[in-house]
Amino acid sequence: MKTLKDIPKVDRLLEWPEMALLLADHPRSEVLKAVRTTLDHLREQLLNGKEGAQTGRTALIAAIGLQLEQRSAQSLKRVINATGVVVHTNLGRAPLARAAEIAVESVSPGYCNLEYDLESGNRGRRNSHVEGLICELTGAESALVVNNNAAAVILALSSLAGNREVILSRGELVEIGGSFRIPDVMRQSGATLVEVGTTNRTHPRDFQSAITANTALLLKVHTSNFAVVGFTAETTISDMAGIGQKEGIPVMLDAGSGCLVDLSPYDIHGEPTIRQYLQDGADVVTFSGDKLLGGPQAGIIAGKKHLVDPMKQHPLLRAFRMDKLSLAALEATLRLYRDERRALQEIPVLRMLTMSAAELSRRAETIRRKLRQSLPPTVSLTKHQGESSAGGGSFPLLQLKTTLLEVTIADNSPQRVETALRRASTPVIGRIHKGQFLLDVRTIMDQDIPALAQSLTEAAGSLATEHP
Ligand SMILES: *Cc1c(COP(=O)(O)O)cnc(C)c1O
Repeated sequence: MKTLKDIPKVDRLLEWPEMALLLADHPRSEVLKAVRTTLDHLREQLLNGKEGAQTGRTALIAAIGLQLEQRSAQSLKRVINATGVVVHTNLGRAPLARAAEIAVESVSPGYCNLEYDLESGNRGRRNSHVEGLICELTGAESALVVNNNAAAVILALSSLAGNREVILSRGELVEIGGSFRIPDVMRQSGATLVEVGTTNRTHPRDFQSAITANTALLLKVHTSNFAVVGFTAETTISDMAGIGQKEGIPVMLDAGSGCLVDLSPYDIHGEPTIRQYLQDGADVVTFSGDKLLGGPQAGIIAGKKHLVDPMKQHPLLRAFRMDKLSLAALEATLRLYRDERRALQEIPVLRMLTMSAAELSRRAETIRRKLRQSLPPTVSLTKHQGESSAGGGSFPLLQLKTTLLEVTIADNSPQRVETALRRASTPVIGRIHKGQFLLDVRTIMDQDIPALAQSLTEAAGSLATEHP
């Protein structure tokens, strides 16, 4: 039985020749922390009378090495999204197009003309790099970008309706993920919320009769992540624009996801484009950069010049402005939309959403064939039909036909397979459904395949050695 006396003293341990290697690779302070953590852990094991506590030199060196590795590893890292949820907020939303990646690489290591006008040699505005593109793609007169759509909504409301009343349907008082609730956002902006209609039905006359001398804005909010079905009535942007124009009150839409191309040819219905919303009479529209648009985190405000331009001078803009890396990625992504065919091919979110069932089935076959070449015999992959969703608060009812690969590793439970893959060096995130651990091929990217093979091999290895 090992006892506490078997734990080496820190000073002695540091003199071991193997430690010289670690000390050459890492700062002394880091090595000391790793040594202390390892010895503390060992002490705890011995005190708890744990079997198999390793006090041997080789085991200790290995444990210290592992500690150092874990401490120096990047926490935010790449994962393989095999959930089939295309815009997955927990997994970083939209994967960027190659063009966006190149743009980020080109401006990040050096200086750039973020706020410098190369034509005149004078100070420039960061918004100028994307404003023209946004106007071109949406038909807006003016546009402004900020950090995310939540900031866009707060900025727009503060600018258009601070200290005044905003009329909104009760059916659209939504919460989008814990921290974004429309009534709270409204309060933050200083506007007073006037709710009209009911949860399931709101009519144009409800808006009309709520208008007072203090009404600054008629607001519509995309219900994003839920749908009201059955006995419903929604007041459309056109209805609201009719009232707004008559009364001289602007109409704003928080479009949430925001879509720049018509996806109905791909059997994805019900989401008008931003251009359509503006044509229908919205005066200001806000939307996200990293949902359906498929770019970096960003909030875009597009609309009438006399309403959007004052926002460019608003004090909140300084707190909400975008950084150069996101701006570079956004500009490159927007440029792809000038050629819609190219956008659908090269923007991963659009590409994944519009893949046909036949293409996904072929893709599953290809992935399975490539993986099989390198997998241990205990891993098996079985094809099933299933459904994936768009995510990102878009198309809440949409179920896209997809192909799934069920992973089994020897006779391990799906829960154990899920955990092992989640903890692999490149984590693989899938889902368990009806007792099967499933990978949805829709969101597995071509460049993921070698890492997926590696992670499956690692998982098989760790499940073989681990005690159940
Ligand atoms: C997602 C969403 C937001 C928040 O957008 P972020 O870009 O995540 O800040 C706001 N409103 C609606 C309707 C949304 O769907």
